[in-house]
Amino acid sequence: MSKISVGAEECVALGAAGHVLEAYPNREVAFGTLQVARALPIKERRMVGPWCFLDRFGPKSFGDEKPMDVAPHPHTGLQTVTWLVEGEVLHDDSLGCESIARPGGLNVMTAGKGISHAEQTPKVNTGILNGVQLWVALPNETRHIDPNFQALEEVPTVELPGGLVQVFSGALANLTSTANHYSELVGADVQVHPGEQVEFGLDPRFEHAVLILNGDCTLEGQVLEEKTLYYLGTKRSEIQFHSREGCRILLIGGPPFPEAILMWWNFVGRTPEEIAQFRADWVNNDRFGEVTAYDGPRLRAPELINLARPNPVS
Ligand code: MN
Repeated sequence: MSKISVGAEECVALGAAGHVLEAYPNREVAFGTLQVARALPIKERRMVGPWCFLDRFGPKSFGDEKPMDVAPHPHTGLQTVTWLVEGEVLHDDSLGCESIARPGGLNVMTAGKGISHAEQTPKVNTGILNGVQLWVALPNETRHIDPNFQALEEVPTVELPGGLVQVFSGALANLTSTANHYSELVGADVQVHPGEQVEFGLDPRFEHAVLILNGDCTLEGQVLEEKTLYYLGTKRSEIQFHSREGCRILLIGGPPFPEAILMWWNFVGRTPEEIAQFRADWVNNDRFGEVTAYDGPRLRAPELINLARPNPVS
């Protein structure tokens, strides 16, 4: 038995055997001064393939203020994947990488054994914030690798009858993203044109989930609600979306993740002892480097012995 209690969330890809269509309403979470809709992790502890975290932010219009301003904070054992519908997010990390994520492009940060980064609305901006940030859990054999950062200016895109598919992670519809990943997965943005339907193949070994980004969408005769993650299970070899007024849908999936992970604050690990070490290393300015490009203090780690589960800051 472990001696350390960290109040971490244990998350497992449960991998429903076969078709399901389960609705999980998102949770509204404060993210600094910004309200975000958290779609993953689901309270039932479910991952979707290796995807273990999904925050939907915006759409939000703003003036002189800075809606996103997340001071330097650490990550381990995961990748952050930032995909925007509109607007821009400035990333700075402890490797010295700086990048502005924009619609159509992708930022992928692989934390591996440890990295820190800051995310904020850049000074020059369009006054709109609208996108998602996802986390991918790294498998055991690669979760201790050196950190790296990758920015893609564009991702593979195909115009299908009735709509447009952009594949930002993994492979779908005969397209393969060049984003660095360490286990099989798919992440895509599907647009359905007004009054149309879009259909494409899926890998039946994968479990999948979908989230509406905007507009109206019907899947298998069911109208999908906003701010709800729909878990689709496994063994689907195709999918078909319909829309009256047009829509955009986020699709994620992968083989059910074969390991149970522990998520606490911004760390993904396997044991409470490991999480405690990650926290101690952040407190002691070890392991995670420094984000020199950010002007201001870094985030403090929550207290370790805490039965309330600290929200990740992403
Ligand atoms: Mn982060």
